[in-house]
Amino acid sequence: MASLELKSLRKEFDGGSIVAVDDLNLEIEDGEFVTVVGPSGCGKSTTLRMIAGLERPTSGRIHVDGADITDVHARHRDVAMVFQNYALYPHKTIQQNMAFGLRMSTDMSAEEREQRVYDAAEMMGIEDLLDDTPGELSGGQKQRVALGRAIVREPDVFLFDEPLSNLDAKLRTTMRTEIQRLQEELGITSVYVTHDQEEAMTMGDRIVILNDGELQQTGKPTHVYQNPTNQFVAGFVGSPSMNFVDVEADPFDGGVRLNGADGSFSYDLTSGRASAFGDIAGGSYVLGIRPEHVAVSEGDVAGTDTIPATVDVVEPVGSDNYLYLDLGTESRSFDTEDAPDFIARVPADIEPEVGDVVQIAFDEDSVHLFETETGEAVT
Ligand code: ATP
Repeated sequence: MASLELKSLRKEFDGGSIVAVDDLNLEIEDGEFVTVVGPSGCGKSTTLRMIAGLERPTSGRIHVDGADITDVHARHRDVAMVFQNYALYPHKTIQQNMAFGLRMSTDMSAEEREQRVYDAAEMMGIEDLLDDTPGELSGGQKQRVALGRAIVREPDVFLFDEPLSNLDAKLRTTMRTEIQRLQEELGITSVYVTHDQEEAMTMGDRIVILNDGELQQTGKPTHVYQNPTNQFVAGFVGSPSMNFVDVEADPFDGGVRLNGADGSFSYDLTSGRASAFGDIAGGSYVLGIRPEHVAVSEGDVAGTDTIPATVDVVEPVGSDNYLYLDLGTESRSFDTEDAPDFIARVPADIEPEVGDVVQIAFDEDSVHLFETETGEAVT
């Protein structure tokens, strides 16, 4: 077991024209399970490969338990990596596949090796498959073997590179729980890379969000969900995405009036955390509000504490309905051109007709404002 520290870790490709990882600083505690998430190309795999020793950093250092391992060969690092494509030897038996890492890195006796493989196989529930070859196994079984092989080595650090991407949705859910159980049981410091924000949010003790090779935010999943530091994080974490609306802010004593950028509505924030916004300078901002923090009432009388909206789509999702609304102003869903304008998640008994005008109000403790230019959250 060990702590892991990345110090200004940087990786450039193509003579510096691609910065895959941009001076990343990260401390991971002994026994912590950290998930790393971000869109395709944000540098997740490159970061992991540098920790594993499969990629040499352009600059920066990697420390395990305080010792600098940046120049240590991959084979001599106490790090085990689990890949999306399992990376099993097709002609070797499961027993041989699992024992392979031990042969490479230690000189233990054959009996001890066999016992360690059996113990790991038992832990993964694959002890009956030890004489099979990978070709005879299902995807889920192969991933258990890959996990078992990582366990056998008793590493200081576990690295997971999208290990569940090739599995179907149901198996993925089972394996998530299994990996979490395993990690808790063994207490091994783990870094788990995924592009799936839901996976990252449910599995990690802590989540790390990257974009363009840069650290955006790190923290407990619920904290990040409730307190995103910028518009990127706010839009990336949570499904459906946070709603964004361009507004002009007009602060007054005890609150702030938000005007739709094109003058189509006026909404006063006066309570909860929103009262802190009374100190901001007036001008353009982006309002952020999650679908579950939008209250909808049926009726078309607007006030300064509600905004009229036209119902475009009603999507039932069991206990709730998602209402796709048109606020008659420029609302912007995060990063997807054809995404619906504005979504409210409401109890299933609120079921207006398409074309109805409803009134929406915000849970004022859950309203976010972002700087228009920088996307930084106003706190
Ligand atoms: P994905 O989820 O798609 O795997 P990622 O977040 O893991 O993406 P990386 O694979 O780390 O991202 O890639 C980060 C950036 O570095 C991308 O722009 C990628 O094209 C680039 N890159 C990665 N490996 C190389 C390489 N060997 N040569 C050149 N560019 C590379």
